Amino acid sequence: MTQKTALVTGAAGFLGSHLTDALLASDYAVIGVDNLCTGNVANLAHLKSEPRFSLVEKDICQPFDVGKVDIVFNFASPASPDDYHRLGVETLLVGSAGTIHTLEIAKRYGAGYLHASTSECYGDPEVHPQVETYWGNVNPVGPRSVYDEAKRFSEAAVTAYKRYYGVDTHLVRIFNTYGPRLQINDGRVISNLMTQALRGQALTIYGDGSQTRSFCYVSDLIAGILALSRSDIDTPTNIGNDVEWTILECAKEVVAVTGAKVEILFKPLPQDDPTRRRPDLTKARTKLGWGPTIMLREGLEKSLDYFKACVDAEAVAKK
Ligand code: UDP
Repeated sequence: MTQKTALVTGAAGFLGSHLTDALLASDYAVIGVDNLCTGNVANLAHLKSEPRFSLVEKDICQPFDVGKVDIVFNFASPASPDDYHRLGVETLLVGSAGTIHTLEIAKRYGAGYLHASTSECYGDPEVHPQVETYWGNVNPVGPRSVYDEAKRFSEAAVTAYKRYYGVDTHLVRIFNTYGPRLQINDGRVISNLMTQALRGQALTIYGDGSQTRSFCYVSDLIAGILALSRSDIDTPTNIGNDVEWTILECAKEVVAVTGAKVEILFKPLPQDDPTRRRPDLTKARTKLGWGPTIMLREGLEKSLDYFKACVDAEAVAKK
């Protein structure tokens, strides 16, 4: 059997690097592409002497070609609210031109294609839990629009390449995910709360903390994505964890796992911050036979050593 090759864009990112590991473990060769605007080569340091892996530093907003591949995983994009606010136009470009360029590669080589879409396609949802057939409630000109609308454009582009060119496409709608390799300064709730707790700082809660999210541990998410990539489902598919937490409850879990004795500091709620979010996973459970297995307390425990190491390294660097 000849070895299959996957192209992973955003390979140096949180999800891209975990996906790369999982593909290598299932005997793929992987070509990673990343412009490192939010990715971190440290996430791939353990693959230095892996002959089946190579990293190309490149911006996918320009057309590119890495040779024949069997499947494309398009994971390149700033993804935390802080990052896509800082890199707004870059986020729009990677989710439009970048997506088209990766679709062209799949079309050229007859490769499979899986695009990392997002629960942000649902915006501030009026339907709860969010089922894939819901079209969403997105502000097209609000601060989150650079991310939300780029991802929605990508879904249209991926679907068009399926419809007009017969590319074998998949669309995963990813819900909040956490675990080792989250960048500690990305502003997301789990990275902020874990690092604040470990530094002995007050935990920042935006608004009154009653807004909800449903947190998926990274290995569960990657397993769901691989199952989707092997399926014949071409319509959007939610992958995440369907246990819903208020942000205040999440903070309490962080306190329990870290043992921190810290205060809570309430800060203003950012504009258009979704009030609730929980995936309806019926489609993934019934059609992929996949469901999340790691719940928040266990996932935070599994992430603790990573966040401790980051905070320790930061303390050493400051000395
Ligand atoms: N949040 C918070 N404190 C923080 C960071 C985030 O209360 O230090 C809130 C944020 O307002 C949102 C939720 O936690 O309601 C999840 O935010 P995150 O940035 O992780 O991702 P989002 O789901 O909003 O894309």
